[in-house]
Amino acid sequence: MADVELTVDADVCEANAVCVGIAPELFALDDEDALQILEVRPQHDMLERARQAVDSCPKRALRLRQSPP
Ligand code: SF4
Repeated sequence: MADVELTVDADVCEANAVCVGIAPELFALDDEDALQILEVRPQHDMLERARQAVDSCPKRALRLRQSPP
């Protein structure tokens, strides 16, 4: 299975930490309240929660897409 890549649109993210609450293994807010993606290419066992976080972001700032080879 091809890798998938998690990305955040920093211009849209409002740092409300909804995604951090759903998947703290994948997301964190830094000292300046900027969202950091801890696992840009989540492994298979984290994919379901990655999708849940993407779907739950109230700003639709997260994307999960096929990563380039
Ligand atoms: S849920 Fe969306 S808006 Fe909130 S911190 Fe995560 S990416 Fe940003």
